[in-house]
Amino acid sequence: MTLQRWRLRVTGVVQGVGFRPFVYGLAQQQQLTGFVGNDSQGVFIEVEGTPDALHRFQQQLEQNPPPLARIEQVQVTTLPLSHDSVFVIVASETLPGSLTLISPDLSICDDCLHELFDPQDRRYRYAFITCTHCGPRFTIIRDVPYDRPQTVMDVFPLCDACATEYHNPADRRFHAQPVACPDCGPQLEFIAPQTHLHRDDALRAAQQTLCTGQIVAIKGLGGFHLACDATADEAVKRLRERKQRPAKPLAIMAKDLESVREYVRVNDDEAALLTARERPIVLLQKHPHSTLAAGIAPGNASVGVMLPYTPLHALLLHDLDLPLVMTSGNISGEPIITDNDDAQTKLAGIADAFLLHDRAIHVPCDDSVVRVLNGQELPVRRSRGYAPFPLRLPETLPSVLAVGGELKNTFCLTRDHHAFMSQHIGDMANLATLNAFNAALDHMLALFRIQPEAIVCDEHPGYLSSRRAEQLAQQHNLPLIRVQHHHAHITAVMAEHGLSSDERVIGFSFDGTGYGTDETIWGGEVLLTTYAGFERVAHLATVPLAGGDRSVQHPYRMALAHLWAAGIAWDETLPPVAACPPVERRILQHQLKTGLNAVPTSSMGRFFDAVSSLIGICHSISYEAQAAIELEGIADDIDDSHRHDTFALHGDSPIVIDPAPVLQQIIRDLHSGQPVSHIAGHFHNGLAQLILTLSEQLRQRTTINTVALSGGIFQNVRLLRLTLPLLHDAGFRVLTHHHLPPNDGGLAAGQAIIAGYQLKQTGQE
Ligand code: ZN
Ligand code: ZN
Ligand code: FE
Repeated sequence: MTLQRWRLRVTGVVQGVGFRPFVYGLAQQQQLTGFVGNDSQGVFIEVEGTPDALHRFQQQLEQNPPPLARIEQVQVTTLPLSHDSVFVIVASETLPGSLTLISPDLSICDDCLHELFDPQDRRYRYAFITCTHCGPRFTIIRDVPYDRPQTVMDVFPLCDACATEYHNPADRRFHAQPVACPDCGPQLEFIAPQTHLHRDDALRAAQQTLCTGQIVAIKGLGGFHLACDATADEAVKRLRERKQRPAKPLAIMAKDLESVREYVRVNDDEAALLTARERPIVLLQKHPHSTLAAGIAPGNASVGVMLPYTPLHALLLHDLDLPLVMTSGNISGEPIITDNDDAQTKLAGIADAFLLHDRAIHVPCDDSVVRVLNGQELPVRRSRGYAPFPLRLPETLPSVLAVGGELKNTFCLTRDHHAFMSQHIGDMANLATLNAFNAALDHMLALFRIQPEAIVCDEHPGYLSSRRAEQLAQQHNLPLIRVQHHHAHITAVMAEHGLSSDERVIGFSFDGTGYGTDETIWGGEVLLTTYAGFERVAHLATVPLAGGDRSVQHPYRMALAHLWAAGIAWDETLPPVAACPPVERRILQHQLKTGLNAVPTSSMGRFFDAVSSLIGICHSISYEAQAAIELEGIADDIDDSHRHDTFALHGDSPIVIDPAPVLQQIIRDLHSGQPVSHIAGHFHNGLAQLILTLSEQLRQRTTINTVALSGGIFQNVRLLRLTLPLLHDAGFRVLTHHHLPPNDGGLAAGQAIIAGYQLKQTGQE
């Protein structure tokens, strides 16, 4: 029989994920000889055998890779035969400065889960069971190459049994860097007043404490959680009081899909996402008869739910027949805590007890949050399970560091055609967050050996991230590139869809805040956009943002500003007028008239706030976007084909979107006693109609047929569900986010791409 020899070059996330033992197994199966190894570009393989066997080998390799692997490319070349007698794994060759992709931290695999609950297994009930297919990666690696001494596992020498598994190419734990067992690995510890327990006793004590309605701080994979019984009103109330978090929704963790269905509605797509190896928090519709405590997500139609993703969580939830609140272990406004001592100091006033362990967390990584739209992911926060897997740039661009925005900060480092988005850092409002930013940045620079050619930031002069960018540029003598906020938003969604540099889109950036080129605050923008630049072709009419942040915190002020701008009297019977104390009303009126201490804003986020208050939903907020989220939550499906109460459009360069007719109609509906859920429904319909009308007008003018939707408002699934069919029916190609959050968590990617193209352009001149 004729033999052939092939060389396969595999790139992507193929190291530290059990790829070589997998290839070894495949080669054995197909009776091939040759070798497999890691090098700076990924995995190289040479295999010799019959053409049939070689084809089957390649097919298996591409179709059923190990769960954590992400193959980008397999290149095959034919070589002369060399008549090897066996198949072997050869030593790694890593060149300094080479790029190795690192796997995100991923959920426990089925094999490990099975062993965890098997009394015969030597890792029975061991909270740190892991293998090459699952467990911690990104949060435990200090440096590359990814070997145990470069991880936080270096302090746990392998016992003989673990070492045997680690060195056996046929074993599921071959070269699994975090491998450990009860004899040699990390252990649990429980600390409460007068109680100090270890191992399984620690776990059981934590479960008992949770059952009695107390709050336990639990160290997990990328940081601490604060946990309590999610069905106990008192426990949830106490957690909110102690954490000073009056209303922001709390995520819950339930044992399995079946128990999740007791609390929320889950369709097949949502179930797939809940059980995916990334194990994000999925925002799901509350069940009408749910027994969850009322305080879990007040004023919200949905609640964030996740399934256990570590062996510790699996054990914890397995014996408890309760869903748990699992909210970030931090103090208000600060990053998630990762260190045992830190937790015991900072969370002392919140937690009644601590469930700790001695595996260090090298970098923090918060839970990811997603929504589901038409069966696809709509990220709200991209972090654990996703970071640091790179996004693909439209083409290879010069390396940059983009520092992102201020709220929900993430940064982005680029290299070749990869954009590495950081994990969620948080709101850049204090020193603790800035420190977290710096630590995460150092970590990613080390892992990916990136040397940026420029630093990129938002045009807003007041952002802490922009100031950090200025320092970095100065320190490293690099150019600083400032990018307009909404240009970055639209670019992020364009790049996600792989648009090329000669394509132009009709971009809708509906958002809270973005510093405009005219120094006003933009946020209801329609921009004709390319990577190289944008033209502002339409925007929401501006109103004064009186007193700045005070108007962000108090939507009734935005409602009054919008009523004033629309020439509608402040009638005492209107909810926001009643909500505004008379003294404040007088001051506000003065500010609006004189423009004193008031920046003009075209923000769509603030317009949502205004409408939310106008119909009496939310007058003051305690977390970002609360008024808009509650407005979406209360809205009903309404057929509006017979109504025409939409925005008025004035002028043409730019078109000014005048919301006065919408406000007038809302007031008529209020007076005629329409339920607020209907009014909120009409409002969403009207906005979808506005997007269609503007898109059609602009297509006529420019022949552009692609519409891109980004900015924080497009986290609103109702709005997207209404808008997409309208645009599709009109023949538009529509770009929405599936990999990056539409909010400022995705901003850095847009910044990086705009700057990358700028540098490329200058390099060519
Ligand atoms: Zn596993
Ligand atoms: Zn061991
Ligand atoms: Fe934004």
